[in-house]
Amino acid sequence: MKKDNLIGLEFFIEKYAGSLNREAIIKEDILRQGISFDKINEKGNFSSKSYFIFSFNIDNDDDIINQRYPEEVAVMNGPYNLKRTVISVRINKSSPYKIKFDQLSEEYRLYLDDSFIGDVAFSPERSYMLKKTDSGKSVRDVAPTIEWGYLIYLAVFRMCQYFENDDECAFCDMNSNYVNQRKSNKGYSAVKSVEDIVSALSVIESSDDSEAGAYTLTGGSIIDDIKFKGDTEIDFYVKFLEAIEERFRGRWISKVVVQAHTPKNLKRLKDAGAHIYHTNFEVWDKNLFEKICPGKSKFIGRDEWIKRIADSASIFGECGVIPNFVAGVELSKPFGFDNVDDAINSTAEGLEFFMSKKIIPRYTTWCPEKTSRLGKFGNSPAPLEYYVKLLIKWHELHYKYNLPIPEGYGAAGAGKAEFSVSAFMDAF
Ligand code: SF4
Repeated sequence: MKKDNLIGLEFFIEKYAGSLNREAIIKEDILRQGISFDKINEKGNFSSKSYFIFSFNIDNDDDIINQRYPEEVAVMNGPYNLKRTVISVRINKSSPYKIKFDQLSEEYRLYLDDSFIGDVAFSPERSYMLKKTDSGKSVRDVAPTIEWGYLIYLAVFRMCQYFENDDECAFCDMNSNYVNQRKSNKGYSAVKSVEDIVSALSVIESSDDSEAGAYTLTGGSIIDDIKFKGDTEIDFYVKFLEAIEERFRGRWISKVVVQAHTPKNLKRLKDAGAHIYHTNFEVWDKNLFEKICPGKSKFIGRDEWIKRIADSASIFGECGVIPNFVAGVELSKPFGFDNVDDAINSTAEGLEFFMSKKIIPRYTTWCPEKTSRLGKFGNSPAPLEYYVKLLIKWHELHYKYNLPIPEGYGAAGAGKAEFSVSAFMDAF
């Protein structure tokens, strides 16, 4: 007999069969609820979770942190004849999605409760991940790759200053993730040096098995009035960009994720080599932005934040600005909407505002980490209905404004997409 989780999933697959591929729907359902593992061979040849910026785990107990898990899995075949679908691994011990090792075939398989969903492959280990920088640091810690090796993730400042007065974004666990990771990995650094980044990139560049096409340079916020060792946020990132682009210009698409800055500051980023500017508006609704993003509200303000995103198109060009939002927090307790349609209508207003200006927002499927403030409120994931409606609305508006596939996200479409933290690229 089919269990409720499977009945719910198949309801959406059948209802939206004409407008959404099943890979995108299943991927969103897995991302929102996370995955549990029945048994895992820790010595297996796979690329393990690097905890590149946030934990992206619903559970973060010591037994989870001390265990090796794959960064991503690809799910394929099975009763839905799935094309290969790349999904970020988010550990949730009580998720209905479980990966089990099949003794007969000696392969991993994904189940929803007791129902087989598909065969599983783990993200492959790359030779460069096991190498060291000139200063002896692990390349995996300094410059991990995600999205099946497509994106080099350079989180160079893994402590956000918004946490200092409890002004952090309510969905964010950056600082507690850093503290947790330090317990088991003394090489997990809060601040990376320009020299280590350049050295790690040299290792990646010269590796035969690198398929990286882009890098993201990012970190927690540096507040202009506080600074970090005398540097403003722009001073800090420009040093990295200049060093990377001087050595590797044109080798990878450069993407920078920082706060919303004035055109004068953005010009400095652009001149230093930034190609795509990501500044994240996180949640569109005014009231929710103030409640969920108190640091952004306090130090910059929502109206100014949005104005700066819009203005940044004049520096980075149409489609060179890609702001992120955390899809699903609109429905979080205690401040969020109490129904899916109000949440979608609100977010659709923001999507249309940006897309009408040729700015293409993208999203990360919310992972309610228990170590974030929203996690401590006891939040559960947003429902699958929300993610299905969001995918449809996003693509409807993207089509309406005749926009291109966003640059720097690898391939698009079912069976091809590598972007692993939401399904908007799978749904093309
Ligand atoms: S700006 Fe918000 S989401 Fe980004 S690191 Fe700081 S608290 Fe986290």
